[in-house]
Amino acid sequence: MTENSSQPQPFQAEVGRLLDIVVHALYSQKEIFLRELISNAADACDHLRYLALSEPGLGPQKYAIHLVVNEEEGTLTVSDNGVGMNREELQQNLGTIARSGTKAFLERLSGDAKKDINLIGQFGVGFYSAFMVADHVKVISKKAGDAATHCWESDGKGAFTLAETAKNLPGTDVVLRLKSEAREFLDEPRLKQVVQAYSDHIPVPIFFGEDESTRLNRAAALWMRPKAGITAEEYKEFYHHVAHAFDEPSLTIHWKAEGALEYTGLLFVPFQRPYDLFDPRRTGRVKLYVKRVFITDNAEGLLPPWLRFLRGVIDSEDLPLNISREMLQLNPVLARIRSGVTRRVLSELQKMAEEKEKYAAFWDKYGAIIKEGLYDDYDFRDDIFKLFRASSTKGEGVSLEEYLSRMPESQDCIYFITGDNAAMLKSSPQLEGFRARGIEVLLLSDAIDDFWVSAVGSYKEKPFKSATRGEAKLDDIKKPEEPPAERPPAPSTEALIKSLKEIFGEAVTDIRPSPRLTESAVCLVAGDGDVDIHLERLLRQNKALGYAPRRVLEINPAHSLIRRMAEMAEKGEKEPLADLGWLLLDQARLLEGEPLSDPRAFSQRLTRLAEKAVA
Ligand code: ADP
Ligand code: MG
Repeated sequence: MTENSSQPQPFQAEVGRLLDIVVHALYSQKEIFLRELISNAADACDHLRYLALSEPGLGPQKYAIHLVVNEEEGTLTVSDNGVGMNREELQQNLGTIARSGTKAFLERLSGDAKKDINLIGQFGVGFYSAFMVADHVKVISKKAGDAATHCWESDGKGAFTLAETAKNLPGTDVVLRLKSEAREFLDEPRLKQVVQAYSDHIPVPIFFGEDESTRLNRAAALWMRPKAGITAEEYKEFYHHVAHAFDEPSLTIHWKAEGALEYTGLLFVPFQRPYDLFDPRRTGRVKLYVKRVFITDNAEGLLPPWLRFLRGVIDSEDLPLNISREMLQLNPVLARIRSGVTRRVLSELQKMAEEKEKYAAFWDKYGAIIKEGLYDDYDFRDDIFKLFRASSTKGEGVSLEEYLSRMPESQDCIYFITGDNAAMLKSSPQLEGFRARGIEVLLLSDAIDDFWVSAVGSYKEKPFKSATRGEAKLDDIKKPEEPPAERPPAPSTEALIKSLKEIFGEAVTDIRPSPRLTESAVCLVAGDGDVDIHLERLLRQNKALGYAPRRVLEINPAHSLIRRMAEMAEKGEKEPLADLGWLLLDQARLLEGEPLSDPRAFSQRLTRLAEKAVA
């Protein structure tokens, strides 16, 4: 019995929301609650095993998980002798949602029950899944090294209580009072079936009952077993456990490195993009084991940050078992494992790239992360370039090799344009001239693109060049097999440019006729020595650039409006010219996604001209 029962404490709002969904809707497969509780129990054993490396008295002789049934009371207890939780940890871990991913996930829930179930099915709810089968849950836990035991209790309806109680050995008992429709989980055969389906690979033995006579799982570390004997189902269940995920892995890589360096790797690419990938800490989630002993699940330096979407296990034979997490990073063996693992992953991804559709889906999710490696990791740059794909003016999923192979001989650089989304980029006026001449331009729409192109410079000696920066010498690029595109003779724009320069003053740095345009009247480009337009906007958003944008206005001499304006300029018709000029400049700004410098003046001009048009 529990004493000193505390006042009920409400769950954090997100937990309440989650519980509501868990209890009322959720899964057809209620049995997965057991996998979740066993997964937590096994993690707790792993953690204590690690702590006991430096403090041998702390852990038990043997780690084990017991499933104990009480028919009369209708309870199922999942019991472990792992690390346990103290009062604060019970409160924190079972009353709030700390995982950043869960919060992000909950924010995405719409309130539309059907959609929510679908989403949550891919996500998983961990401990709270206990309330799918139980109307009352008790967690009795004693933290290893502590004297006190605490009991957490809840009926999953908005609040929980915490109280002191007593327990012999460190560890945790999760006591579920099963709902009447979930009494099947009192039966040994049913429990055995569920354990074997979901938890056979758990490297801690699971027993039925209080003693060790009935063992339910095989308890061999899955990654140590020969590949040939492991089914896809077993890999998937291990992935669920190790990644705390619910989807199917879209790639499984399992290998053993032998020779100077010995380790086993079992890595997964999640199908669902993890929610914390854009967290600025860029921490990895692959678990490091040393000779089957869990060491840490965020070993800095085990994988490069640009592979942080991977989940799984690396188990080293060479690292010392008693290594502290702090010293790990300095150990040269770790750096060698990292480069071995990276090489392996890159080569597997390259194999995957042969399946076009599958690879496109992969790149769509993780390309933006991998591209960080282009400036982060010089050693792997060439391999990453092999994986690189982008949309272009000529297609989707274009590789750099494809781009180079299509490039006319006289073209000496790789053209790209960056922006917030590929569809909008495609219709940028700056690309008109490229398209008319059949010159391919890569459409780069990840925020990271601006950074790597400027850091990397070139690929196979062809420099990357922004289609929106500097003078485009497009007419120098000749395709011998094609006749030059026909263009009407352009009128002189000298007088117009002179007048516009007077009108605009400091608003633009230069005005010139454009080889980029065929349909639009004007566009803005960055000067040769200036920061690219999109990068500049990003920097300004992040307050990394203090000064106002510097822009060159390019005008299309063949455009009928520009022709008309050129005539006006020659005749000295100043007044409508100023209005037209400003409108064109503002319109070019709008197309760039820039704010108008003076929206009021813009609308007055527009109205004046519209009035004339209908007069
Ligand atoms: P996750 O396992 O993905 O972290 P859970 O909801 O399953 O999320 O569990 C929340 C946290 O509660 C765990 O991270 C762990 O710290 C703690 N926990 C749950 N069960 C146990 C247990 N049997 N022993 C020790 N800690 C536990
Ligand atoms: Mg869990």
